[in-house]
Order: sequence, then C-alpha cells, then structure tokens
Amino acid sequence: MGRTATLLIIEDEPETVAVLKAYFQAQGYRVLAAASGEEALAMAREHTPDVILLDIRLPDIDGFEVFRRLRTHRRTEGIPVIFLTERRGRQDRLAGLELGAYDYIPKPFSLQELRARVQNILRRSQAGPAFDFLTGLPGLPLILEHLEEQLGRTGWVAWLIGLEGLEAFGEHYGFVARDDAIRAVGLLLAGVNHEGGEGLFLGHLGEGLFLMTGEARQAVALGEKALSRLQNALPYFYPLQELEEDPAGLPALRIVAARLMAAEGPFAGPEAVLEALRRRLAPVGAGPR
Ligand code: CA
Repeated sequence: MGRTATLLIIEDEPETVAVLKAYFQAQGYRVLAAASGEEALAMAREHTPDVILLDIRLPDIDGFEVFRRLRTHRRTEGIPVIFLTERRGRQDRLAGLELGAYDYIPKPFSLQELRARVQNILRRSQAGPAFDFLTGLPGLPLILEHLEEQLGRTGWVAWLIGLEGLEAFGEHYGFVARDDAIRAVGLLLAGVNHEGGEGLFLGHLGEGLFLMTGEARQAVALGEKALSRLQNALPYFYPLQELEEDPAGLPALRIVAARLMAAEGPFAGPEAVLEALRRRLAPVGAGPR
C-alpha cells in the first residue's frame, strides 16, 4: 500500500515527543502528537490514526483510561495501540486488558525496536485479512487492493450501495439498532453476491456503504437485484408497531447507489474509482414508507 500511515503520539514529555516525531517523520509517517489524554482522544476521533503510541503517565487521565475510552468510541475502537511503559511496575495492569488490542514497549526503548513494532502492526492491519468488524466483510485496505487488481482488467462494473439517514436512525433507535441495520444490509448484499457465484467481490467501506464489483455481464444485474431486495427489506428495519402506527414519523432510511463501468475510465487508481462512485451516489429509494 502506498498510503501514508498516520501515527498519533500521546506523551507529555516534550523531548520524547520531539525524538519520536523526527524519527517517524523521517521514515515517511504522518505524525500527530498530543500532550494530554483529553487532547489525544479528540485528535484520535478527528484523524483516526493507523497506530497510537500511548504513554501511561499523562498529566490528566492516564494511558489506561485513554485506552478504555478509545475502545468505547466507534471511530477509535479498532485503532492499534502501543503502550510506552515504565520498565518497572504497571505492566500487571496491561495483563488485564483485552488480548490482541495492544502491544507495549518499556521505556527507555530503542527507536529501531519501536519502529519494528509499528511496522508489524501496520502490516497486520493493512495487508492482513483486514475484515470489517461489524459485517465481517473485507474493509477498506482489501477493497483498495481488489480495485487495484481490477483496474488491470476490462469489462467490470463497480457498485456503491448503502443507506443514508443512519445517523438519525441511530439517534432514534440507538447504536445497536443502527449497527444491526448495517449488518442486515451486508448480509443481504452477501446473499445476492453469493448467487452470482465466484469472481464477485463485496466489501464494507464503513458507515453502511458497500462496494460490489465483478464482471459487468453478471454484476450489472446483480446490483439491480440487490437494490430491489434492499427496497423490500427496508420496512423490516423498523419496529412493526411503530411502522403501523405512524410510518411518516419514523426517521427515514434512504437507499443510495452509484454504478461505474470500466469503459468510463481510465482511472488514476483505486482511490479514484471510489471517489468517482461517491460523487455519483444518489438516492434510489426510501423507507419506511
Ligand atoms: Ca509521560
């Protein structure tokens, strides 16, 4: 992947920050730094860095609390964390944290060793099976990889299919219901995709937006089938009683879709394909009415 990885350093000792920043910038990383826990949380939510280096001793909330709050927020829960720990003590508390969610390196650390940890994490999260936590479908890194391959072929079609209005839906019914709706769309699309047999690809870009691609002679019709099934399924995303009582008062979910054909290219790269699709995204149906 040619993408620049973003690193967030959470540390209040200016010298340590300066050293880390200079070192990782020289390695080609985009480096952000925060000197307090609260500032760090705001930054992490805004920039969703690829890796976080988290010092345990901070002036406001400690590193464990920062870690806990990262894990409770949708945008930051999946970000790998490397704790910078004192050599003595405190590591027992690390043992209580969920496995696999973090790594740690005792201070003073060697920069080469820290870089190796960061690279390992990036390799795992970017080139590994990078499946979306919510739907179990391939996430952005795999989507980009797939599109890159596909750009070398002809006769493909790419669909972007999703739901708009999820935010209001989530505010009304809660995040669990919102996530359930996204999962349901993923399952429905996976079902349609499965009927198309081998060679079709389905991934979840996040926020309820799905990418479906394949050979045009198959995948054009499959995309249309998916849209009509989705339209039929929308009412089931709502509680039956509310649907019967006041359908007009419910937060509307809109199906949005965009289609792009290989012949409309050339495209500069996988990101350009996604961008063209996003620009073209338009409503194709609405529910629950
Ligand atoms: Ca510190």
